Amino acid sequence: MDIIERDKSYIANTYARAPLVASLGKGAQILDDGGKELIDLGSGIGVNAFGACDEEWIKAVEAQLHRLSHLSNLYYTEPQTKLAQLLCEKTAMKKVFFGNSGAEANECAIKCARKYSHDKYGEGRSTIITLTNSFHGRTMATLSATGQDAMHVHFGPFLEGFVNAPANDFPALEALCGNDVCAVMLELIQGEGGVIPLEKAYVSAAAQLCAQRDILLIIDEVQTGNGRTGTLYTYMQYGISPDIITTAKGLAGGLPMGCALLGEKVENTLSAGTHGSTFGGNPICAAGALSIISRLDEALFDEVRRKGEYIKSQLESAKGVKSVTGLGLMLGIETEKDAKTLAQECLDKGVIVLTAKSKLRLLPPLNIKQEELEKAIQILKGVLAQ
Ligand SMILES: *Cc1c(COP(=O)(O)O)cnc(C)c1O
Repeated sequence: MDIIERDKSYIANTYARAPLVASLGKGAQILDDGGKELIDLGSGIGVNAFGACDEEWIKAVEAQLHRLSHLSNLYYTEPQTKLAQLLCEKTAMKKVFFGNSGAEANECAIKCARKYSHDKYGEGRSTIITLTNSFHGRTMATLSATGQDAMHVHFGPFLEGFVNAPANDFPALEALCGNDVCAVMLELIQGEGGVIPLEKAYVSAAAQLCAQRDILLIIDEVQTGNGRTGTLYTYMQYGISPDIITTAKGLAGGLPMGCALLGEKVENTLSAGTHGSTFGGNPICAAGALSIISRLDEALFDEVRRKGEYIKSQLESAKGVKSVTGLGLMLGIETEKDAKTLAQECLDKGVIVLTAKSKLRLLPPLNIKQEELEKAIQILKGVLAQ
Protein backbone atom coordinates (compact mmCIF):
# COMPACT_ATOMS: atom_id res chain seq x y z
CA MET A 1 0.00 0.00 0.00
CA ASP A 2 1.47 3.39 -0.81
CA ILE A 3 1.75 6.11 1.82
CA ILE A 4 -1.16 8.22 0.60
CA GLU A 5 -3.45 5.20 0.38
CA ARG A 6 -2.49 4.00 3.86
CA ASP A 7 -2.98 7.52 5.23
CA LYS A 8 -6.46 7.70 3.72
CA SER A 9 -7.32 4.25 5.09
CA TYR A 10 -6.11 4.67 8.62
CA ILE A 11 -5.79 8.33 9.56
CA ALA A 12 -8.75 10.48 10.63
CA ASN A 13 -9.76 12.80 7.84
CA THR A 14 -9.06 16.03 9.71
CA TYR A 15 -6.63 17.45 7.15
CA ALA A 16 -7.13 18.36 3.51
CA ARG A 17 -3.57 17.28 2.76
CA ALA A 18 -1.72 18.48 -0.33
CA PRO A 19 -0.29 15.65 -2.45
CA LEU A 20 3.29 15.85 -1.15
CA VAL A 21 4.90 12.93 0.65
CA ALA A 22 7.85 14.50 2.45
CA SER A 23 10.68 12.16 3.28
CA LEU A 24 13.80 14.21 4.02
CA GLY A 25 14.46 17.74 5.17
CA LYS A 26 17.51 19.96 5.65
CA GLY A 27 17.00 23.62 6.47
CA ALA A 28 14.55 25.08 3.95
CA GLN A 29 14.97 22.09 1.65
CA ILE A 30 12.45 19.27 1.62
CA LEU A 31 12.78 16.15 -0.52
CA ASP A 32 9.66 14.25 -1.53
CA ASP A 33 9.60 10.46 -1.71
CA GLY A 34 10.50 10.58 -5.40
CA GLY A 35 13.62 12.67 -4.69
CA LYS A 36 12.16 15.95 -5.95
CA GLU A 37 13.58 19.03 -4.17
CA LEU A 38 11.28 21.67 -2.74
CA ILE A 39 12.00 24.99 -1.04
CA ASP A 40 9.96 25.32 2.13
CA LEU A 41 8.36 28.71 2.80
CA GLY A 42 6.10 27.29 5.52
CA SER A 43 8.42 25.66 8.11
CA GLY A 44 5.66 23.22 9.04
CA ILE A 45 3.36 25.97 10.19
CA GLY A 46 6.05 28.26 11.52
CA VAL A 47 7.45 25.39 13.59
CA ASN A 48 10.89 24.67 12.12
CA ALA A 49 12.39 27.98 13.26
CA PHE A 50 15.83 27.04 11.90
CA GLY A 51 14.48 24.78 9.18
CA ALA A 52 14.27 21.00 9.19
CA CYS A 53 16.90 18.94 11.04
CA ASP A 54 19.06 21.92 12.05
CA GLU A 55 22.50 20.60 13.10
CA GLU A 56 22.85 22.48 16.38
CA TRP A 57 19.32 21.61 17.41
CA ILE A 58 19.95 17.92 16.62
CA LYS A 59 23.08 17.99 18.79
CA ALA A 60 21.23 19.55 21.72
CA VAL A 61 18.29 17.16 21.49
CA GLU A 62 20.52 14.13 20.94
CA ALA A 63 22.72 14.98 23.93
CA GLN A 64 19.62 15.18 26.11
CA LEU A 65 18.28 11.89 24.69
CA HIS A 66 21.41 10.20 26.03
CA ARG A 67 21.08 11.86 29.45
CA LEU A 68 17.43 11.71 30.51
CA SER A 69 14.47 11.28 28.16
CA HIS A 70 11.67 11.82 30.63
CA LEU A 71 10.77 11.96 34.27
CA SER A 72 7.47 13.40 35.38
CA ASN A 73 6.78 16.91 36.56
CA LEU A 74 6.61 15.48 40.07
CA TYR A 75 10.42 15.88 40.08
CA TYR A 76 12.94 18.52 39.04
CA THR A 77 14.76 18.35 35.71
CA GLU A 78 17.40 20.81 34.57
CA PRO A 79 16.52 21.69 30.93
CA GLN A 80 13.08 23.03 31.75
CA THR A 81 14.45 25.24 34.55
CA LYS A 82 17.11 26.68 32.24
CA LEU A 83 14.56 27.32 29.51
CA ALA A 84 12.15 29.01 31.91
CA GLN A 85 14.94 31.23 33.25
CA LEU A 86 16.00 32.19 29.72
CA LEU A 87 12.43 33.01 28.66
CA CYS A 88 11.83 35.12 31.78
CA GLU A 89 15.12 36.98 31.43
CA LYS A 90 14.40 37.78 27.80
CA THR A 91 10.83 38.94 28.40
CA ALA A 92 10.65 40.30 31.97
CA MET A 93 7.87 37.80 32.66
CA LYS A 94 8.11 36.06 36.04
CA LYS A 95 7.18 32.40 35.65
CA VAL A 96 6.49 29.81 32.97
CA PHE A 97 4.02 26.96 32.63
CA PHE A 98 4.96 24.34 30.02
CA GLY A 99 2.49 22.36 27.93
CA ASN A 100 2.76 20.61 24.57
CA SER A 101 0.93 22.85 22.10
CA GLY A 102 -0.51 26.26 21.42
CA ALA A 103 -3.96 25.19 22.54
CA GLU A 104 -2.57 23.96 25.84
CA ALA A 105 -0.68 27.22 26.34
CA ASN A 106 -3.96 29.07 25.86
CA GLU A 107 -5.85 26.66 28.14
CA CYS A 108 -3.37 27.58 30.86
CA ALA A 109 -3.85 31.30 30.19
CA ILE A 110 -7.64 30.93 30.37
CA LYS A 111 -7.53 28.97 33.64
CA CYS A 112 -4.98 31.36 35.10
CA ALA A 113 -7.04 34.46 34.21
CA ARG A 114 -10.20 32.98 35.72
CA LYS A 115 -8.43 31.91 38.90
CA TYR A 116 -6.73 35.29 39.31
CA SER A 117 -10.08 36.99 39.15
CA HIS A 118 -11.87 34.42 41.31
CA ASP A 119 -9.18 34.63 44.02
CA LYS A 120 -9.43 38.41 44.10
CA TYR A 121 -13.04 39.25 43.26
CA GLY A 122 -15.04 36.04 43.74
CA GLU A 123 -17.76 34.69 41.43
CA GLY A 124 -19.18 36.47 38.38
CA ARG A 125 -16.01 37.88 36.83
CA SER A 126 -15.03 35.11 34.44
CA THR A 127 -15.73 36.52 30.95
CA ILE A 128 -12.87 36.64 28.48
CA ILE A 129 -13.08 38.93 25.47
CA THR A 130 -11.50 37.67 22.24
CA LEU A 131 -11.63 39.10 18.73
CA THR A 132 -13.83 38.28 15.81
CA ASN A 133 -11.81 36.23 13.29
CA SER A 134 -9.32 35.15 15.97
CA PHE A 135 -7.82 31.67 16.30
CA HIS A 136 -6.78 30.25 19.66
CA GLY A 137 -6.85 26.48 19.16
CA ARG A 138 -8.94 23.35 18.65
CA THR A 139 -9.64 22.13 22.17
CA MET A 140 -13.09 22.91 23.56
CA ALA A 141 -12.00 25.91 25.66
CA THR A 142 -9.77 27.40 22.99
CA LEU A 143 -12.39 26.73 20.33
CA SER A 144 -14.89 28.55 22.53
CA ALA A 145 -12.39 31.42 22.61
CA THR A 146 -11.88 31.36 18.84
CA GLY A 147 -13.96 34.04 17.13
CA GLN A 148 -14.76 32.23 13.88
CA ASP A 149 -18.36 31.04 13.50
CA ALA A 150 -17.38 28.59 10.76
CA MET A 151 -15.41 26.55 13.32
CA HIS A 152 -18.35 26.44 15.72
CA VAL A 153 -20.92 24.59 13.66
CA HIS A 154 -20.72 21.02 14.94
CA PHE A 155 -19.37 21.15 18.43
CA GLY A 156 -21.75 22.91 20.79
CA PRO A 157 -22.44 23.45 23.58
CA PHE A 158 -19.36 25.61 24.07
CA LEU A 159 -17.69 26.80 27.21
CA GLU A 160 -19.52 29.83 28.60
CA GLY A 161 -17.88 33.14 29.24
CA PHE A 162 -16.35 34.12 25.89
CA VAL A 163 -17.49 37.15 23.92
CA ASN A 164 -16.05 38.51 20.68
CA ALA A 165 -15.24 42.10 19.77
CA PRO A 166 -14.41 43.27 16.23
CA ALA A 167 -10.68 43.97 15.77
CA ASN A 168 -9.41 47.56 15.84
CA ASP A 169 -12.70 48.92 17.22
CA PHE A 170 -11.82 50.33 20.63
CA PRO A 171 -15.31 51.66 21.53
CA ALA A 172 -16.72 48.16 20.91
CA LEU A 173 -14.09 46.65 23.22
CA GLU A 174 -14.72 49.26 25.89
CA ALA A 175 -18.46 48.62 25.73
CA LEU A 176 -17.89 44.92 26.42
CA CYS A 177 -15.50 45.52 29.32
CA GLY A 178 -18.07 45.28 32.11
CA ASN A 179 -17.68 44.04 35.68
CA ASP A 180 -17.94 40.45 34.49
CA VAL A 181 -14.68 40.55 32.47
CA CYS A 182 -11.43 39.02 33.75
CA ALA A 183 -9.30 39.09 30.58
CA VAL A 184 -8.87 40.26 27.02
CA MET A 185 -7.05 37.82 24.74
CA LEU A 186 -5.53 38.98 21.45
CA GLU A 187 -3.32 37.83 18.59
CA LEU A 188 -1.29 40.89 17.54
CA ILE A 189 -1.30 39.52 14.01
CA GLN A 190 -4.27 37.28 13.34
CA GLY A 191 -2.52 34.32 11.72
CA GLU A 192 -5.07 31.69 10.70
CA GLY A 193 -7.52 34.58 10.21
CA GLY A 194 -5.49 35.91 7.26
CA VAL A 195 -2.25 37.49 8.56
CA ILE A 196 -3.93 40.70 9.72
CA PRO A 197 -1.93 42.91 12.12
CA LEU A 198 -3.76 44.86 14.80
CA GLU A 199 -3.35 48.64 14.78
CA LYS A 200 -0.86 49.97 17.34
CA ALA A 201 -3.20 52.66 18.67
CA TYR A 202 -5.92 50.06 19.26
CA VAL A 203 -3.59 47.72 21.09
CA SER A 204 -2.17 50.41 23.36
CA ALA A 205 -5.66 51.74 24.16
CA ALA A 206 -6.78 48.18 24.96
CA ALA A 207 -3.73 47.62 27.16
CA GLN A 208 -4.44 50.86 29.05
CA LEU A 209 -8.08 49.98 29.59
CA CYS A 210 -7.12 46.52 30.86
CA ALA A 211 -4.58 47.96 33.29
CA GLN A 212 -7.10 50.52 34.65
CA ARG A 213 -9.73 47.85 35.34
CA ASP A 214 -7.44 45.02 36.48
CA ILE A 215 -8.48 43.04 33.42
CA LEU A 216 -5.65 40.71 32.39
CA LEU A 217 -4.15 41.21 28.95
CA ILE A 218 -3.34 37.86 27.34
CA ILE A 219 -1.31 37.99 24.14
CA ASP A 220 -1.48 34.83 22.02
CA GLU A 221 1.96 34.63 20.40
CA VAL A 222 1.65 30.98 19.42
CA GLN A 223 2.34 31.92 15.80
CA THR A 224 3.90 35.40 16.07
CA GLY A 225 6.45 34.46 18.74
CA ASN A 226 10.01 33.18 18.91
CA GLY A 227 11.59 35.60 16.45
CA ARG A 228 9.02 35.15 13.70
CA THR A 229 8.25 38.85 13.20
CA GLY A 230 11.72 40.31 13.84
CA THR A 231 11.66 40.59 17.63
CA LEU A 232 11.67 37.77 20.17
CA TYR A 233 7.94 38.36 20.70
CA THR A 234 5.70 40.64 18.68
CA TYR A 235 4.32 42.49 21.74
CA MET A 236 7.78 44.08 21.95
CA GLN A 237 6.94 46.07 18.81
CA TYR A 238 3.65 47.29 20.30
CA GLY A 239 5.05 48.93 23.46
CA ILE A 240 2.81 46.97 25.83
CA SER A 241 3.41 44.75 28.87
CA PRO A 242 1.07 41.76 28.71
CA ASP A 243 0.04 39.91 31.87
CA ILE A 244 0.24 36.56 30.10
CA ILE A 245 1.98 35.60 26.85
CA THR A 246 1.32 32.25 25.22
CA THR A 247 3.56 30.68 22.62
CA ALA A 248 4.26 27.35 20.90
CA LYS A 249 4.84 26.67 17.18
CA GLY A 250 8.49 27.74 16.70
CA LEU A 251 9.42 27.46 20.38
CA ALA A 252 11.15 24.08 20.33
CA GLY A 253 12.22 24.13 16.67
CA GLY A 254 10.10 21.13 15.62
CA LEU A 255 9.31 19.38 18.87
CA PRO A 256 5.88 19.75 20.46
CA MET A 257 6.02 22.39 23.15
CA GLY A 258 3.87 25.31 24.25
CA CYS A 259 4.10 27.62 27.22
CA ALA A 260 2.34 30.39 29.05
CA LEU A 261 4.63 33.15 30.31
CA LEU A 262 3.14 34.63 33.46
CA GLY A 263 3.68 38.25 34.49
CA GLU A 264 3.88 39.80 37.94
CA LYS A 265 0.13 39.85 38.62
CA VAL A 266 -0.34 36.15 37.99
CA GLU A 267 3.03 34.62 38.82
CA ASN A 268 1.61 32.88 41.90
CA THR A 269 -1.99 32.38 40.73
CA LEU A 270 -1.62 28.74 39.74
CA SER A 271 -0.75 26.65 42.78
CA ALA A 272 0.10 22.97 43.25
CA GLY A 273 -2.72 20.79 41.94
CA THR A 274 -4.58 23.55 40.06
CA HIS A 275 -3.00 22.82 36.69
CA GLY A 276 -0.49 20.42 35.17
CA SER A 277 0.66 18.30 32.27
CA THR A 278 2.26 14.86 32.00
CA PHE A 279 4.58 15.74 29.14
CA GLY A 280 4.83 19.53 29.45
CA GLY A 281 8.40 20.80 29.68
CA ASN A 282 9.88 17.33 29.25
CA PRO A 283 13.69 17.29 28.98
CA ILE A 284 13.82 16.51 25.24
CA CYS A 285 11.53 19.32 24.12
CA ALA A 286 13.10 21.69 26.65
CA ALA A 287 16.58 20.93 25.28
CA GLY A 288 15.31 21.59 21.74
CA ALA A 289 13.74 24.88 22.82
CA LEU A 290 16.88 25.98 24.67
CA SER A 291 18.85 25.46 21.47
CA ILE A 292 16.38 27.66 19.56
CA ILE A 293 15.69 30.43 22.08
CA SER A 294 19.36 30.90 23.00
CA ARG A 295 20.17 31.59 19.33
CA LEU A 296 17.44 34.19 18.78
CA ASP A 297 19.54 37.36 18.93
CA GLU A 298 19.56 40.84 17.40
CA ALA A 299 21.64 39.72 14.42
CA LEU A 300 19.02 37.10 13.54
CA PHE A 301 16.15 39.55 14.10
CA ASP A 302 17.83 41.97 11.67
CA GLU A 303 18.03 39.16 9.16
CA VAL A 304 14.35 38.30 9.68
CA ARG A 305 13.31 41.92 9.17
CA ARG A 306 15.56 42.30 6.13
CA LYS A 307 14.24 39.15 4.46
CA GLY A 308 10.68 40.18 5.25
CA GLU A 309 11.29 43.54 3.57
CA TYR A 310 12.85 41.77 0.60
CA ILE A 311 9.78 39.54 0.15
CA LYS A 312 7.45 42.53 0.52
CA SER A 313 9.38 44.60 -2.00
CA GLN A 314 9.36 41.71 -4.49
CA LEU A 315 5.69 40.88 -4.12
CA GLU A 316 3.92 44.18 -3.45
CA SER A 317 4.21 45.29 -7.04
CA ALA A 318 4.14 41.79 -8.56
CA LYS A 319 1.55 40.74 -11.12
CA GLY A 320 -1.45 38.96 -9.54
CA VAL A 321 -0.86 40.45 -6.08
CA LYS A 322 -3.39 42.76 -4.44
CA SER A 323 -1.63 43.35 -1.13
CA VAL A 324 0.99 41.99 1.25
CA THR A 325 0.42 42.13 5.03
CA GLY A 326 2.34 41.01 8.09
CA LEU A 327 5.66 41.59 9.80
CA GLY A 328 9.10 40.03 9.45
CA LEU A 329 8.80 36.48 8.14
CA MET A 330 5.07 36.17 8.81
CA LEU A 331 3.45 37.42 5.62
CA GLY A 332 0.05 37.18 3.97
CA ILE A 333 -0.45 37.72 0.25
CA GLU A 334 -3.82 38.73 -1.07
CA THR A 335 -3.96 37.39 -4.62
CA GLU A 336 -6.17 37.82 -7.66
CA LYS A 337 -6.65 34.08 -8.09
CA ASP A 338 -7.77 31.41 -5.62
CA ALA A 339 -5.06 30.93 -2.96
CA LYS A 340 -5.49 27.15 -2.64
CA THR A 341 -5.03 26.70 -6.40
CA LEU A 342 -1.95 28.94 -6.35
CA ALA A 343 -0.46 27.01 -3.42
CA GLN A 344 -0.91 23.78 -5.36
CA GLU A 345 0.76 25.30 -8.45
CA CYS A 346 3.69 26.43 -6.27
CA LEU A 347 4.01 22.90 -4.92
CA ASP A 348 4.10 21.51 -8.48
CA LYS A 349 6.90 23.96 -9.25
CA GLY A 350 8.89 23.09 -6.13
CA VAL A 351 7.91 25.67 -3.51
CA ILE A 352 5.90 24.98 -0.37
CA VAL A 353 3.61 27.86 0.63
CA LEU A 354 0.75 27.96 3.15
CA THR A 355 -2.65 29.59 2.96
CA ALA A 356 -4.66 31.51 5.56
CA LYS A 357 -8.31 32.12 4.71
CA SER A 358 -8.26 33.55 1.17
CA LYS A 359 -4.57 34.49 1.24
CA LEU A 360 -1.26 32.82 0.64
CA ARG A 361 0.81 32.74 3.82
CA LEU A 362 4.61 32.62 4.12
CA LEU A 363 6.39 31.49 7.30
CA PRO A 364 9.84 30.47 6.02
CA PRO A 365 12.62 29.23 8.31
CA LEU A 366 14.09 32.28 10.11
CA ASN A 367 17.56 31.45 8.76
CA ILE A 368 16.57 30.57 5.19
CA LYS A 369 19.48 31.27 2.86
CA GLN A 370 19.07 34.41 0.77
CA GLU A 371 19.65 32.48 -2.48
CA GLU A 372 17.00 29.89 -1.56
CA LEU A 373 14.59 32.67 -0.71
CA GLU A 374 15.29 34.48 -3.99
CA LYS A 375 14.78 31.31 -6.00
CA ALA A 376 11.51 30.52 -4.22
CA ILE A 377 10.19 34.07 -4.62
CA GLN A 378 10.98 34.01 -8.37
CA ILE A 379 8.99 30.78 -8.72
CA LEU A 380 6.16 32.21 -6.63
CA LYS A 381 6.10 35.36 -8.77
CA GLY A 382 5.92 33.21 -11.88
CA VAL A 383 2.90 31.33 -10.52
CA LEU A 384 1.19 34.55 -9.39
CA ALA A 385 1.65 36.14 -12.82
CA GLN A 386 0.05 33.29 -14.82
C1 LIG B 1 -1.60 27.47 15.80
C2 LIG B 1 -2.22 28.40 16.79
C3 LIG B 1 -2.81 27.94 17.97
C4 LIG B 1 -2.98 26.48 18.27
O1 LIG B 1 -1.79 25.81 18.41
P1 LIG B 1 -1.73 24.20 18.41
O2 LIG B 1 -0.31 23.88 18.69
O3 LIG B 1 -2.20 23.74 17.06
O4 LIG B 1 -2.65 23.75 19.49
C5 LIG B 1 -3.29 28.88 18.87
N1 LIG B 1 -3.18 30.21 18.63
C6 LIG B 1 -2.62 30.68 17.50
C7 LIG B 1 -2.51 32.15 17.29
C8 LIG B 1 -2.13 29.80 16.54
O5 LIG B 1 -1.60 30.29 15.40
